[in-house]
Amino acid sequence: MQTLAGRVAIVTGAGQGIGRGVALCLARAGAHVVINDLVQERISRTVSEVEALTVRALGVVGDVTQSQDVDRLVQETLHHFGSIDILVNNAGIAVLKPMVEHSEAEWDAVLNVNLKGVFLCCQRVVPEMIKQKRGAIVNIASIAAFHYTVPHVPYAASKAGVVALTRDLAYEVARFGVRVNAIAPGPIETPLMASALSPQQKEAYARSIPLGRLGQPEDIGEAVVFLVSDAASYITGATLPVSGGTDLRVLNV
Ligand code: NAP
Repeated sequence: MQTLAGRVAIVTGAGQGIGRGVALCLARAGAHVVINDLVQERISRTVSEVEALTVRALGVVGDVTQSQDVDRLVQETLHHFGSIDILVNNAGIAVLKPMVEHSEAEWDAVLNVNLKGVFLCCQRVVPEMIKQKRGAIVNIASIAAFHYTVPHVPYAASKAGVVALTRDLAYEVARFGVRVNAIAPGPIETPLMASALSPQQKEAYARSIPLGRLGQPEDIGEAVVFLVSDAASYITGATLPVSGGTDLRVLNV
């Protein structure tokens, strides 16, 4: 049974990695998917993969930190599909180094994409969902919002902000039938991870995960499908860890 048949979803940063996995899982569940990213070539690939699953897809190039781009993303979605039922705020970047080495520009870039981008997309989409008296938003946070993982203070701070934004926005819009939740992924095998870890580091990391493997984008996609589906109709304001148990243990002895 297709739990999301006919619903319209926007996924940001969906040209690769977790966003692409989320888009494919939503499509398999029957949703039509709007694919946003910075690069047209990547968008076109995900659009073709989604269309192969016999739902409709639309690609919209745009930067989630730019309000005019977010406005265009919303307008093109409404023009094409007439409604927005699901928003997945996935676009994100990370800079790995000790805090004292971060430049002000790097702090701004990380906070702009990871937190301001979520704010802008929610702010533009929520009024449409309120009009429809229905909608579900999932924000992709990280276990780094709750635990030290690797040196990336601005990233961890941005993701803690996403958890707080999720909780407070959920409270504000609950009475309009709109639900807002977050997912806190653990280590997921994506191009972002490949740029941060060597193959040897990845292997060592995988061995240290209680469930014995790195996560795949579809692990996050399936959790998104659940949170936006009617099966989760009484869940709002929550942040769900999808981490293979990475964050369950403090000492690795
Ligand atoms: P990824 O492989 O780098 O994919 C993210 C996509 O978002 C890229 O195509 C990226 O384009 C795009 N993007 C970046 N800035 C954007 C902007 N301003 N507007 C629109 N799109 C933008 O990353 P990922 O690993 O799939 O991560 C996806 C999300 O999961 C992020 O929020 C990340 O923080 C979170 N997460 C990931 C992990 C993990 O282990 N992978 C763990 C916890 C949380 P460019 O490549 O051109 O920048």
